[in-house]
Amino acid sequence: MSDETKVNPVIPFIREDRMPHIWCPGCGIGTTVNCFARALTKSGLDLKNVSIVSGIGCSGRVAGYVKLDSFHTTHGRSLAFATGLKLGNPDLKVVCYSGDGDLMAIGGNHFIHAARRNMDMTVICVNNLIYGMTGGQVGPTTPSPAVATTAPYGAFEHPFSLPFLADSCGAVYVARWTAYHVRQATKAMKEALNKKGFSFVEIIAPCPTLYQRRNKLGDGLATMQYYKDKSVVKNGCDTRDVGISFQSEIVCGKFVDRDRDTWLEGYNKRNAAAMGAGYRDYPWRDEETSK
Ligand code: SF4
Ligand code: MG
Repeated sequence: MSDETKVNPVIPFIREDRMPHIWCPGCGIGTTVNCFARALTKSGLDLKNVSIVSGIGCSGRVAGYVKLDSFHTTHGRSLAFATGLKLGNPDLKVVCYSGDGDLMAIGGNHFIHAARRNMDMTVICVNNLIYGMTGGQVGPTTPSPAVATTAPYGAFEHPFSLPFLADSCGAVYVARWTAYHVRQATKAMKEALNKKGFSFVEIIAPCPTLYQRRNKLGDGLATMQYYKDKSVVKNGCDTRDVGISFQSEIVCGKFVDRDRDTWLEGYNKRNAAAMGAGYRDYPWRDEETSK
């Protein structure tokens, strides 16, 4: 056996003193962390310059388990913290790693504005279609008619399609994979990490304890089989066509890769232009005095 196979390449990224982790058997979050660790290695980023921010939830635990400068913040506010962190130190590579409940429900407002502003950060959303840690409540990604703690007769609200949401708000990189697609997910995370601007990677992952069990969809392994059988790869697909419904096919791929000024670039350009033109706070006052 070579040295390479003896040592798990992910180990250097893990805070082993925090093990064992809290995740249930068959949960997909650990798989995404494995992809993330490999993506970091491949990205070529200096890890001393990478910060990770999580919110509350099972996926929110990721920040505490990886050897980066980590911020485990309040529920739904990971992107607000991440924005402050980036503006406080623009040299940092800021990664926001959280779940669908945290990022898209309680934190939905922060998500749309961070994407709109093209804040320079990478957002990785582990989407298990439900609130996990808080008890399996229905969330904005729960497809109809899935059963949840707070929807015992089945969800009926229209769910968010996260790639479409990110795209329409202005994200410059948008990809979706499942926990089954480890190589593709790793590549997407690496590309997102190396992208300037607001990059977004959604990973559909099982929550066998709350979502799959309640909906009689089998265990984690059965869910992996479902991802394998029902995923279709459509790189470049229009994000209007990638919505997920209950037990439907899952469209995966890289959907968006474009360039535009980040918030800081826009801010600096606007300030430079204003200063060059003789910056005036209230130009109409000059007009008033000259009358
Ligand atoms: Fe994973 Fe669900 Fe267990 Fe949370 S409750 S650790 S999301 S399987
Ligand atoms: Mg969730």
